[in-house]
Amino acid sequence: MIKVKTREEIEIMRESALVVSKTLGMLANEVKPGVTTLYLDKLAEDFIRSEGAIPGFLGLYDFPNTLCMSPNSQVVHGIPNKTTLKEGEIISIDCGALKNGFYGDHAYTFAIGEITSDIEKLLDATKQSLYEGIREFKAGNRVGDVGFAIQKFAEDNGYGVVRELVGHGLGKEMHEDPEMPNYGKRGRGKKFTEGMVVAIEPMINLGTHKIRQHSDGWTITTLDNKPSAHFEHDVAIVNGKPELLSTFKYIYDALGIKSDEENEFRQNLQQ
Ligand code: MG
Ligand code: MG
Repeated sequence: MIKVKTREEIEIMRESALVVSKTLGMLANEVKPGVTTLYLDKLAEDFIRSEGAIPGFLGLYDFPNTLCMSPNSQVVHGIPNKTTLKEGEIISIDCGALKNGFYGDHAYTFAIGEITSDIEKLLDATKQSLYEGIREFKAGNRVGDVGFAIQKFAEDNGYGVVRELVGHGLGKEMHEDPEMPNYGKRGRGKKFTEGMVVAIEPMINLGTHKIRQHSDGWTITTLDNKPSAHFEHDVAIVNGKPELLSTFKYIYDALGIKSDEENEFRQNLQQ
């Protein structure tokens, strides 16, 4: 059952989304060669608690840590450990937090130092596919419209769209209805209405869309071991239109990226 949110609840969720956005912004300064994913995980846990929130993934379905950290060919759900980040790698960081009874859920794929242009294009296209999907999350559209937009953009650019893992409704629970696949057919699936809040999160592979699960029961890796990227925003329907609750602003500020991309995107959504 889809739980639509009141305006007041959406304002509370904006705060939860802000916590995870700021957490990824804080981490952006720390993602560099030589640090371990376990160190970054501890930083994130302390930061989330200092914001008056609780790590959203820690203990959820028995996940052992605060962050899902998935380097290179890992798609999602990587468990932080003692291996160090290396120049030229990428790492997808997924962060959840619970504040005032509502969850935020947010992901970004970071480059560690200089990366190849092939991988840089994959990151750009994955983020762009997220924007293409968000545009379709408006009253009257359906789940398939979002999935179609993401899939079309990714596949037109020659990438593989992971099927087995999907976005989701977000609220008092981390995973609510509806499921939000990153593939689909226009006009199919559940209809969007005012007050819905979802996490849209394309997982896009440089090679095959196929994946495999590790024996740890969590980590998901591409079948061909080529890199995979993951970007995720929390989005609400307000006045019939999509409104971003999370923001990459803190990441861009930390990395010194001067970009109007997100502001322009927000304004476009209002038109
Ligand atoms: Mg997430
Ligand atoms: Mg999610």
